[in-house]
Amino acid sequence: MIPIAIIGAGITGLACAQRLKEAGLKSVIFDKGRGIGGRVATRRIDGMQFDHGAQYINAHGRAFSAVLERFVASGSAATWRAANELIGIVGSPGMSSLAKALSVDLDIRQNALVGSIMDAGNKWLFTVNGSEQTATQVVVTVPAPQVPALLGLEHPLVAKLKPVSFAPCLTLMAAVRVPAGRIVWDDENALLSWVAQDSSKPNRSASDASTWVAHAGAKLSKQNLEKTPAELVDLMLPMLCDRLGVGLDQVSYASVHRWLYARVTAPLGLPFLQHENSDLYLAGDWCIGSGVEAAWTSGTALANEIIFSN
Ligand SMILES: Cc1cc2nc3c(=O)[nH]c(=O)nc-3n(C[C@H](O)[C@H](O)[C@H](O)COP(=O)(O)OP(=O)(O)OC[C@H]3O[C@@H](n4cnc5c(N)ncnc54)[C@H](O)[C@@H]3O)c2cc1C
Repeated sequence: MIPIAIIGAGITGLACAQRLKEAGLKSVIFDKGRGIGGRVATRRIDGMQFDHGAQYINAHGRAFSAVLERFVASGSAATWRAANELIGIVGSPGMSSLAKALSVDLDIRQNALVGSIMDAGNKWLFTVNGSEQTATQVVVTVPAPQVPALLGLEHPLVAKLKPVSFAPCLTLMAAVRVPAGRIVWDDENALLSWVAQDSSKPNRSASDASTWVAHAGAKLSKQNLEKTPAELVDLMLPMLCDRLGVGLDQVSYASVHRWLYARVTAPLGLPFLQHENSDLYLAGDWCIGSGVEAAWTSGTALANEIIFSN
């Protein structure tokens, strides 16, 4: 039997497992994805790469600042500046490097889709790609709207998630030849709320065309979630070219990723949830706020609770 099963290898799950490991507790992480990191992600296509999830990180608390400092010192993170202004810390050579740095010496099962989780008295039953597994303790770190699929709509913890909300985000990835100039636009009221030259981040591999990432603003994302990937490119690419002042003929690659649950718009206000003094826990960025620091803080706080109670 698995001592502690963690569902999700995003920053919450990885931070939780690392803290447990430091205290000598063994956990196994299951993630449905091919890679680790969840919304901290880097996509590699034809020799190019795009950070299509989290763009950069800023730490506010001392504990998370220390983690980022360690990553910068070891080379898995670096400081990103635009026109000498600090934007934030990014993974090096991609945002997914942050997840890799957090995953060292952990037992992680990828391509492992977890189905329903059920209470079986003194243990928990759950399915992984259809096969049954058992664990003494279970930590669920998926976005709050995905929790009912695992626990069932009637589970008491599901009712507690009502105040939590997420916004979707359509992310355009494009390779565009652009004369040197401005590399970041950040305006939550614009149709494209974030536009950045991804290839301007430190330690990215040199490529002929510069790579860009653009986010549709909250309203545009919400209104167009049902469109096909090709329709989304047709919608967003002219907006990007317009912003950059170049023609569509300067574009050598474009695709769109649809994040249904991208950023937390209303958090829970607690570091994690526990089901009636049992060994079933929920954690995630959505417990505390929006962003990687919230995810790390939630995962670490939950691990400390488990360590304390073991
Ligand atoms: C487009 C975008 C831009 C962002 N920009 C920033 C930014 O600039 N700065 C910042 O700090 N934050 C940013 N964020 C938010 C940040 O990425 C998240 O706050 C953080 O990564 C959340 O981590 P998490 O571990 O809580 O959740 P996730 O990263 O969502 O991890 C959950 C994991 O659970 C897995 N999973 C889900 N269901 C199952 C299942 N049934 N079985 C197995 N595995 C499952 C998923 O595959 C995933 O890996 C951005 C997010 C997006 C999408």
